[in-house]
Amino acid sequence: MHVELKGLTKSFGKVKAVNNMNLEIEQGEFLVLLGPSGCGKTTALRMIAGLETIEKGELYIGGKLMNEVLPKYRDVAMVFQSYALYPHMIVEENIGYPLKMKGVKGQEKTDAILRAAKQVQLEEFLNRYPKQLSGGQRQRVALARALVRRPKVFLMDEPLSNLDAKLRGQMRAELKHLQHELNITTIYVTHDQIEAMTLASRVAIMNEGVLQQIDTPKNIYNNPANLFVAGFIGSPSMNFIKGDIENGQFVANGCLIKNIEKDPMKDVILGIRPEDMEIVNNEPSHIQAMIYSIELTGEQTIVTSKLDSNFITIREDKDYESDLDIPVKIKVDITKSFLFDSLSGKRI
Ligand code: ATP
Repeated sequence: MHVELKGLTKSFGKVKAVNNMNLEIEQGEFLVLLGPSGCGKTTALRMIAGLETIEKGELYIGGKLMNEVLPKYRDVAMVFQSYALYPHMIVEENIGYPLKMKGVKGQEKTDAILRAAKQVQLEEFLNRYPKQLSGGQRQRVALARALVRRPKVFLMDEPLSNLDAKLRGQMRAELKHLQHELNITTIYVTHDQIEAMTLASRVAIMNEGVLQQIDTPKNIYNNPANLFVAGFIGSPSMNFIKGDIENGQFVANGCLIKNIEKDPMKDVILGIRPEDMEIVNNEPSHIQAMIYSIELTGEQTIVTSKLDSNFITIREDKDYESDLDIPVKIKVDITKSFLFDSLSGKRI
């Protein structure tokens, strides 16, 4: 089902939670709304679900204007961070609850429950109460309860954030597979950029109620529209160095990069991802800094160096070793660096 937001706006008092949001989500797409806490993701999702009134703008689902349509007639199913299961009902009854509300009975109901339970691998647990399940299993019951309705659109609000890291990884894979199998249009809210990058067909990044960029995870990573997006996506984050462009060079204290094909400009920010820099000994380098800390994460070593009050993070291979507090020379892959206007944050 195609979903379209046209100039959607919502304020709470003086706070513009969602400001003129325009977004088109194609049939079968997995769109992730990503942004820091308080940026308006949940409010946007709740307007789509019909749980929040729309102050301005239009919402279309399947080409039909939905602004005044009650939630139960929108054919959307919402999965929340809190599983909101009924503790006194066994899994089968929890999953079947939306069908009961719709008046579906008998074999049709039993078949639908079993089909949804199978889709999330819960068929062995149908007779258990929620308290007899793990967090991941409970989350899957909540998913199955949404699935059983066969909605046209899935709305998910941080559904994995209560799970531990390992379970989150597993559930991510399950959600991705489910989406591939069912092809239901899904709008998924998270502040976790890894979740966004791994699940989304497209990511819509928000900040302070305003959409910043909408694109595939790959394009957003490789081609961030502005300083906010560049800093938000990627872990460790992109490095930023403030300097000037003079005579075709980027110049900052301890940093000189030649052959910058830009006009002279004051107060620009150079952005480089940790994997696009390397520590060198005898090769020409661009940055001189001091080694501040070294962290081995298993498959890689994260080297943090210090240049004035700035930290610069470099992703080195797992065998990298060095003493701390010694000078280090860093080479930058200039073809993969970005320049931003420090005032507006825009790419230049
Ligand atoms: P989080 O990731 O923390 O859930 P979010 O991006 O989903 O955040 P929203 O919950 O949409 O953000 O909130 C956006 C802004 O609107 C915040 O400043 C929040 O305090 C405010 N807000 C949300 N709901 C209400 C409400 N019912 N009354 C007043 N202010 C609200």
